[in-house]
Amino acid sequence: MAQVTASGAALFRWIDGALHFLAVESRLHRGYWGLVKGRLEAGETVPQAARREIAEEVGLRGVSFLPGFREEVRYRLPSGDDKLVIYFLAAAGAGEVRLQAEELADYRWLPFPEVCELFTFPEAGRVVERAVRFLEAGRGGPPAGRESIAGHALRRPHAAALDEILGRRLDVLDDGFVRVVDYLGNDAAIVQAARVSYGEGTRRVSDDRGLIRYLMRHRHTTPFEMCELKLHVRAPMDAWRQWIRHRTASVNEVSTRYSIAIDAAQATPPAEWRTQAAGNRQGSGGLVDRSVGERLSAAEADLQRQARQVYQERLDAGVAREQARKDLPLSTYTEAYWKIDLHNLLHFLALRMDDHAQLEIRRYARVIGTEVVARWCPLAWEAFCDYRLRATSLSRIETELVAALAAGDAEAGMSIARAAGWLAQRTAEPGRLARNRERAEAEARLLALGLPAPWGDGSGGKGRPAAGVD
Ligand SMILES: Cc1cc2nc3c(=O)[nH]c(=O)nc-3n(C[C@H](O)[C@H](O)[C@H](O)COP(=O)(O)OP(=O)(O)OC[C@H]3O[C@@H](n4cnc5c(N)ncnc54)[C@H](O)[C@@H]3O)c2cc1C
Repeated sequence: MAQVTASGAALFRWIDGALHFLAVESRLHRGYWGLVKGRLEAGETVPQAARREIAEEVGLRGVSFLPGFREEVRYRLPSGDDKLVIYFLAAAGAGEVRLQAEELADYRWLPFPEVCELFTFPEAGRVVERAVRFLEAGRGGPPAGRESIAGHALRRPHAAALDEILGRRLDVLDDGFVRVVDYLGNDAAIVQAARVSYGEGTRRVSDDRGLIRYLMRHRHTTPFEMCELKLHVRAPMDAWRQWIRHRTASVNEVSTRYSIAIDAAQATPPAEWRTQAAGNRQGSGGLVDRSVGERLSAAEADLQRQARQVYQERLDAGVAREQARKDLPLSTYTEAYWKIDLHNLLHFLALRMDDHAQLEIRRYARVIGTEVVARWCPLAWEAFCDYRLRATSLSRIETELVAALAAGDAEAGMSIARAAGWLAQRTAEPGRLARNRERAEAEARLLALGLPAPWGDGSGGKGRPAAGVD
C-alpha cells in the first residue's frame, strides 16, 4: 500500500482582539470543513508544499510559520492508501483571502473553540487545540498588545459560591469571626497556570479535576499560589499568637498602641474547660467536671472585668495606650486583615485543622476550610481533603509493618518493631512496654487501617505486651 503525503497549516489571525483560525470548505465535498492542506509535489519539501498550498488555495502570501510547531495526522484513504498530513502553524497577516474556486467553496475565520465545531473531522480540531496550547505556552505569541491568546478576552476569574458570602461574618467562638474581604483566582486559575507549565503534557491530564488532583498528589504547589485570599479576622490573642506564626501571610493587625483595645474577651463556658492531656504535654484531655467549670467560668469573668477596669483606669489617668494594655488577658479579642495564597493557606489548614492543634484555632481553621475554601476552590479543597487532610502517610517502618501484617505475618511485624527499638520493656515493670511515642502513633495508624499491632492491645504502649516481646 502506498503512502500519500500532504502538508498544510493552522492559519491564525487576530480579529477584534481575539485569536481566529481559518477553516475552508471543500468544493468537491460540499459541507466538508477543514484546514488548508494539499499533496506534496515532486521535489518539494514539506514546508514548501504548505506555503504553496496556502498561496494557491486561499491566496495568502508572506505568512509567517512559527518554528517548533509540527503536527502529524495519519489516516487511511478509501483507496486503501495511508495518508500523512503534516501541519504547521502560521500567522496569516492582514492579506485578503482569495479562494481557489475549483478546490474550495467557502471559508470562515472563527475563534477557538468554535472553529473546532465546524471541522468535519476531529483531527483538524486537535491540530488547532495544540496550536492554541503552543501559543498559550508563550511559544510564538502573543503579539504585543493582545490580551488573550485563547480567542477570548481574559475575564476576571470568580467563584460564585464565595461571592455569596463575601463580606459576611462567619462566627467563631463566642465573639470571633472570619470574613472574606477579597480573593483572587479560583480552581480554573490553578488549572490555567498548570497548563502553561505542562504545555504538551496537558493532553494526558486533560480534565480540570484530574489535573488539580494530580498537582496535589505530586506536591506541584506553585499553581495553587495563583489564588489568594484576604480575610478579616477577629480572634482572641492566644489563638492569634499561634496564627501569626504562619509567616507566609501578609498581616495588618489593629494596633493597641494607636487604638483602644477591643472591649471583648473570649469567655469559656462552664462545660468547656478541658483537662491537661496525660500523654501529650501540649494538648487537652477530657472535660473538667461541670461544677468545677462553673467556678472557673465565674472566676474568668471576674478577672476579665477587673483587667478591663484597670486598663480603663490607666487610660483615664492619661497613661499611654501602649503601656496601659500590658495587663490585658490573652483572651482579649484582636482583629486583623490576613492575606495568604492558597498553597500556604492549605499548609496552615493542614496544621491547624489537625487534632494536635489547640481547639480554639482549630475552630477558626475549620470555618476557613469548610466555609471558605470549599466554596472558593471546591476541586482543590476536595483534593486537599483526599490527599492531605484525611490521608495517612506511613514511615518506612510503618510501611514494612503494614505489608507484614496484611500478609498475616505477625512474627515478621514483631521483628520489624523490635529492630526499630519499639519493644523495649520498662525497667521497673518487666513485661510492660516502655513509653515510645513513635510506636504509639504507629499503633493508632495501624488500628485505623484495621491492622491491630501484634505486640499489645493498641493502648499506646500501656497494655500487656503479647508473647515474644523482649
Ligand atoms: C500542633 C502545633 C504545635 C506547635 N508548637 C509550637 C511550640 O511549642 N513552640 C513554637 O515556637 N511553635 C510551635 N508551633 C508553631 C510551628 O513551629 C510553626 O511555627 C507554625 O506552625 C508555622 O508553620 P510554618 O513555619 O510551616 O508556616 P509558615 O510560616 O507559613 O511557613 C510555611 C513554610 O514556608 C517555609 N518557610 C517560611 N519561613 C521560612 C524561613 N524563615 N526559613 C525557611 N523556611 C521558611 C517553610 O517551609 C514553612 O513550612 C506549633 C505548631 C503546631 C501546628
